[in-house]
Amino acid sequence: MNDVNVKIPFVDLSLQHQSIQKQMRQAIEDVLERGDFILGKALSDFEAEFASACGAEYGVGVACGTDAIALGLQACNIGAGSEVILPANTFVATLIGVLRAGATPVFVDCDPNTALIDLAAAENAVTLKTKAIVPVHLYGQVVSPQELINFAQRHDLMIFEDAAQAHLAHRDGYKAGSLGIAAAYSFYPSKNLGAFGDGGILVTKDTEVAQKMVRLRNYGASKKYFHVEAGTNSRLDTLQAAVLHQKLPHLAGWNANRLEIARQYDSELAPLKSMGITPIENQSGDGHVYHLYVIKVDESCPLQREEIQEKLAALGIQTGIHYPIPCHLQPAFSNLCYKMGDFPHSEKLAKQILSLPMYPGLTSSQVKEVVAVIASLVSEKQGKLLHI
Ligand SMILES: *Cc1c(COP(=O)(O)O)cnc(C)c1O
Repeated sequence: MNDVNVKIPFVDLSLQHQSIQKQMRQAIEDVLERGDFILGKALSDFEAEFASACGAEYGVGVACGTDAIALGLQACNIGAGSEVILPANTFVATLIGVLRAGATPVFVDCDPNTALIDLAAAENAVTLKTKAIVPVHLYGQVVSPQELINFAQRHDLMIFEDAAQAHLAHRDGYKAGSLGIAAAYSFYPSKNLGAFGDGGILVTKDTEVAQKMVRLRNYGASKKYFHVEAGTNSRLDTLQAAVLHQKLPHLAGWNANRLEIARQYDSELAPLKSMGITPIENQSGDGHVYHLYVIKVDESCPLQREEIQEKLAALGIQTGIHYPIPCHLQPAFSNLCYKMGDFPHSEKLAKQILSLPMYPGLTSSQVKEVVAVIASLVSEKQGKLLHI
């Protein structure tokens, strides 16, 4: 936390935890009593329920979302020699997952209005080696399912969803997690469904993918001490699964609250459009689960994004930037030989975006206050400029 008194935090998980503390404690105690800490009952219960909530058949819990991507791609037989299309503007874990699977990442730019992968631009990224596309349902908004499915069918590609920000999101009648061969989720504490530590899951309708994933997370064993692939140790702890299992029934309600908050932000922010501040567009109606609520501060705004962020912080309002550097410009991946200018929309967004406080329980007066403070900062600066 910051030095200044935080008046409106970026996220506050204590609110959702308070309401179900008793049940979570009981679920943890049950695990202690059973002692089934690894691959225990709460894990299989949770895996089945989460998969079904995503419109999938199987769920395989792993140590984190990054592993769900890396091992999940492997389970889908996507690895060395395969090119995988992914957006340049995503959390770096999407890229790390693709690389760890042994595949070659091929970046694509985004639509500047939604920040989601631009499927028209993806047409130019397809080669004879392309095997899959990893759409990222960024900020909680599902990439257009019909366009995605058409694209994948046209080029005979697998769809492997990075749904780490999109638990229970939906669009045009399709659920996130059900669009392709498999989908990866993260249960990092601040995700829409968060554990008390790291966690992740792969969901799939495909029996073979599920079985291979079950082996990969458990040393590649098909039965005890019999190893059919070079797997690893990446299991979702039974204790974490017990917590997630208690939270799952509340997730839809928490998401609905996020949507309500986002709609209030939308309407309060509307007058700021003329001053260069616009929200990232929601094109998925009530299926958006708003993991993040993100605005763009463009060149016409009298204040720069950094100034707004600093001034808000000084007033006790926390914000974030998701993400300040697109993947193709991260120093660790310079060997991929991308350069500044390759993905202009992603690069521009990285400079303009600002994530406002968003979590279930954020009150309507807090939302009003955040927007009122931004409005007054911007108009104060505008006034000063006019008087020069
Ligand atoms: C959080 C996140 C991940 C990685 O999840 P971890 O559990 O932190 O490993 C992957 N992709 C996206 C888009 C994410 O937001």
